[in-house]
Parts: sequence; structure tokens; C-alpha cells
Amino acid sequence: MKITDVKATIVFGRSIFVQVFTDEGVTGIGECSPMNAQVLAHFVNTVLRPICIDQNPLEIDKLWTAMFYRPYKLGVMGAHLEAIAGVDIALWDILGKVTGQPVCILLGGCYRDKVRMYASLGGGARRTPAEQARVVADHLEKGYTAIKIRMDWGYQVDVDPDKDWAMFQECKKLTGDGVPLSFDANNGYSPSTAIIQGRKFESLGIYHFEEPVMVDDYAGYAQVAHALDVPVSAGEHEYTRWQFRDLIQQGQVDIIQPDIVKCGGISEIRKIAALGEAHHKHMVPHQTQPTIGTAANLHFIASLRDANRPQEFTGVNERLNGLFKEPLELKDGYITLPMKPGLGLELDEEAFKRAAEES
Ligand code: CA
Repeated sequence: MKITDVKATIVFGRSIFVQVFTDEGVTGIGECSPMNAQVLAHFVNTVLRPICIDQNPLEIDKLWTAMFYRPYKLGVMGAHLEAIAGVDIALWDILGKVTGQPVCILLGGCYRDKVRMYASLGGGARRTPAEQARVVADHLEKGYTAIKIRMDWGYQVDVDPDKDWAMFQECKKLTGDGVPLSFDANNGYSPSTAIIQGRKFESLGIYHFEEPVMVDDYAGYAQVAHALDVPVSAGEHEYTRWQFRDLIQQGQVDIIQPDIVKCGGISEIRKIAALGEAHHKHMVPHQTQPTIGTAANLHFIASLRDANRPQEFTGVNERLNGLFKEPLELKDGYITLPMKPGLGLELDEEAFKRAAEES
């Protein structure tokens, strides 16, 4: 079996879907993190495509290693790993289709057939506490049983901690004791402010405290994690097993959050999971892409015995769902694993073609 083509397509101007075609008529689909659609699609189509053409799509780890080391000096993080992710996920989809197995079975087994999702609600910086609370109320009405509010201060530190605290209090009134409420500072605090804020959040009950301090501030993460009881999380800014090694060993976070469409795909996130397990860390991946990215993440999570915490979901996107024959369905705050061979998602070719032409 040979790869005949690799193609990244920009969808609705933002999402990047990857297709890997083979000489046996089996096609795999994957997705890259949409940080810059033009750059990502170009990377896949010009750098990774030539590496993959004529190779055996079932030799996934061998291909991953070639995609990582041949363009090593172009990346090692960011766009390079996000591009690899799209191709890698498509290769796993092919392996599933060839073997007739869903990806979670290929990963070792399915521990849960549906996954509890938490509503990940951003934009805190531009909203008042009352406005953010209304967004939370809206999502509770939609059936979510876990919530996270994100501040999105844009990598600025200590802009308005009092407002953040007021927002947490307003939202906590709605979630009460029954619905876990997490807080994502989006790297928005200095370590000392993060500790002061974290203690306040703990006084009301907080489920996890995400990215309290600046990216790469591993010493700051360790300081916050040691000072607080609440599980501290990070990982959406890390890409490979080596960065996660440093985050775990130096940053001492309690929860690791690799993103399957950023960190090099299913192959790399598995290795990161083994590293996390060896250090007894919770695994709660970052995930903002509601179709292929979420499907890949669900298969991965389903294959981990201890991944019982709710998983990130930024909401159903009807326009993207329209590109699939049987889209993922959110019901009562859960998504059921698509158990068809591969990822279990199939593109509606006509709709996909139209969306690609519009982009
Ligand atoms: Ca986050």
C-alpha cells in the first residue's frame, strides 16, 4: 500500500483539513490546529507531502519520525508539529479503515463509549462578570455538566485580577456545588498573583486552575502548583514529548493538556500520555476543533483507563458539522464515540468541495 497524495484544504477560511490518499482507494482524514490556515496548509502541501508520497501509510511511526526530523530546522514546535498532526491523524484513520477497527481499539481498547464534555467558554477579558455568567447559564441550559471560563487577556499579566475574581464568583453562583467550574487564566498572572487568586477560587470550590502563569515559566508553574491544593494545568503551548518532559519535571503541574491537532497527532500524544502516566498526572487535552480534532481526541481519551475528568469542548459548530455525513452529537453534555472504522467520521464530499471553493 502506498500514499499517492497528501492534501491540506482550508475550510471556511480557518479550519485546515488534511486528506491522505492511497493507491488502494482508502483515504484518511485529519486536521491541523487553525493557528494560521495559509501557513499550515502550505507546510503540509509543500514540506510534508513530498516526504509521504510513495511511502506505506501503515508505517505511521516511521513516517512521523521522517516528518519530524527531515524539516527539523523549520520548526520543532508550532506550525511544524501542527502540520504533522493533520497528516498523522489521517494515517491513523487509514489504519482503522484498512483493519476495519475504530481508532480507540487500535490504541489498545475502549474504556468508555461516551465522554463527558465541559463547556469551554472564552472571552472573559472583554465581558463583564454578569455577561460571562449569562454565557454560563446558557450552557447549563444546553445540558453541560461541567464548565470552564477562560479569561483571554492576550498574554498580558495581572491586568484586572479583581474583575476575574468577581467573574468567578458570579459564575460559581450558577454552577453551585454540583457542576465543576474550572478557571483558565490564559497565562494572565504573575506567580504571586496566581497564588492569591487561586486561594480565593479554592475558598468557593474550583475544579482545575489552568495556565495561571506565563508560557515557558516552568519555575512559576511549580511555585503555584506547590502553593495551592487545586490541580494546576498546562500544556496547550507544548508540542512534543520533550517539552512535556520539561513541563512535568520542572513545571510540576498536576494536569497535562496536550492538543492532538497541535502536538503532532495521535502518535505523539500517546507518548506524552505514557510520560504523564509515569509521573501520575491527569490527562485532560486541550481541544478547540469540534469535528475531526474532537473525534481524534475522543478516541485517544477513550483508550486511557484513568482519563475520567470531563474533556474540553468549545461547542457544536453546525457549519462544520454540515461537512460530515454523520457528525458528532452532543447530548446531555456527553459525546458518544463514533465506532465505525478509523475516526468514524466521513466527509460529505460535495459539501466539502463547496466549502473548500468558498475559502
Ligand atoms: Ca486554555
